[in-house]
Amino acid sequence: MSAKRPLPLPDDQTREFWDGCANQELRLQCCEDCETYIHQPAAMCHACNSTRLNWKRVSGNGEVYSWVVVYQAPASYDVPYVVGWIELVEQPGLRILSNVVGCPPDQVQAGMQVQVEFEALADGVNLPVFRPV
Ligand SMILES: [Zn+2]
Repeated sequence: MSAKRPLPLPDDQTREFWDGCANQELRLQCCEDCETYIHQPAAMCHACNSTRLNWKRVSGNGEVYSWVVVYQAPASYDVPYVVGWIELVEQPGLRILSNVVGCPPDQVQAGMQVQVEFEALADGVNLPVFRPV
């Protein structure tokens, strides 16, 4: 995909996630009290309402939960491409919205095993994407 794509704008809640991506690491929030992973980043644990959240590196292994194939997009995107919910192995229901790459879009399947990799956009920003393993 083209480097003309818009870049993420990290804020206090998401900076650790994007810093992790810049270092080729998938980092997610984790509750210090109940050890539940949280994604998207939040101020409070969804499971126990604790505000004692830290960040942990996760494996980046998961499976395709659901997906769509995009055929029409702004000019700066190469179509078709796949946008999917990836369920990570660390916790049932822990899902990240991302792209599935390295696979013809019509071959993506539910339950397909994938692993994170990082696509360099620009200015040191890496985007996590998932490739079948
Ligand atoms: Zn919690």
